[in-house]
Amino acid sequence: MATPLTADELLRALREEGLTVHEVRDWRHHNRNAKGHWGPLHGVMIHHTVTEGTDSSVELCYDGHPDLPGPLCHGVIDKQGEVHLVGNGRANHAGLGDRDVLEAVINEASELPADNAADTDGNRHFYGFECINLGNGEDPWPEAQKAAIEKVSAAICRAHKWTERSVIGHKEWQPGKVDPRGFPMDGMREAIKRRLAKEPQGTEGTEGTEGDGRPVPPKPQHPPYEPFPGSAFFHSGAKSPVITAMGERLVAEGCGHYEQGPGPEWTEADRTSYAAWQRKLGFRGKDADGVPGKASWERLHVPHS
Ligand SMILES: [Zn+2]
Repeated sequence: MATPLTADELLRALREEGLTVHEVRDWRHHNRNAKGHWGPLHGVMIHHTVTEGTDSSVELCYDGHPDLPGPLCHGVIDKQGEVHLVGNGRANHAGLGDRDVLEAVINEASELPADNAADTDGNRHFYGFECINLGNGEDPWPEAQKAAIEKVSAAICRAHKWTERSVIGHKEWQPGKVDPRGFPMDGMREAIKRRLAKEPQGTEGTEGTEGDGRPVPPKPQHPPYEPFPGSAFFHSGAKSPVITAMGERLVAEGCGHYEQGPGPEWTEADRTSYAAWQRKLGFRGKDADGVPGKASWERLHVPHS
């Protein structure tokens, strides 16, 4: 249960997750609050628009149509993975759904019951995001768009301290609905779970590859951490309290592969442990060879030594 995010809080959460966000017209004051309750919030609901074209889809979701006034959601996720905010408050997206499903979302249960009833007002309790897709099973879902669904969901879950279990598809809520069609919601929740295990991208700057020396945006909010000493620092025979501090952080992150120590001298156990950390962050191949790189180092938060 949660108090709805304010417009500023929602915008900040989305941008911190690394998303490109567009504010459409008067979205901050555009809602259906005069028609019903808004809150407490329990989850995020994902939809597809059954439309094509970004501008016309965003306009439709803002204005709605004679039978169903807008906003039709809170944000539209386009094919490029950019987000267009169209509403802040109650929106016409979820309709009546199954109370048992709402209970499961509130409890973040590991399994959702079948949605076989339409007895509960979903517009009151869910953030809604419409993804531009024809919903015919053939219109592709670009990776950038699916990544944006992950990020939007993760951003809101982070803001409310929810898990991925608070994210559902419209088809899991309301009998007869098929959206979103084209990817499994269980797989999407797994991806959201992995994303929630990491720091948000927008503030940590994890773009780019590990170890290639490309600059990572500075993180002025964490001055007490040891700055990255450069990959060349970690060679056989190198000795420093920084290496001990690094090893202790690796152990704390569940990545320790030490028989003894960690200690100040760079050893194969350090390399194996560091490789486990790189894999935990999602790096693969030579980006997970156990030689520290700037991106993974900054996220390890090694204390000043
Ligand atoms: Zn829908």
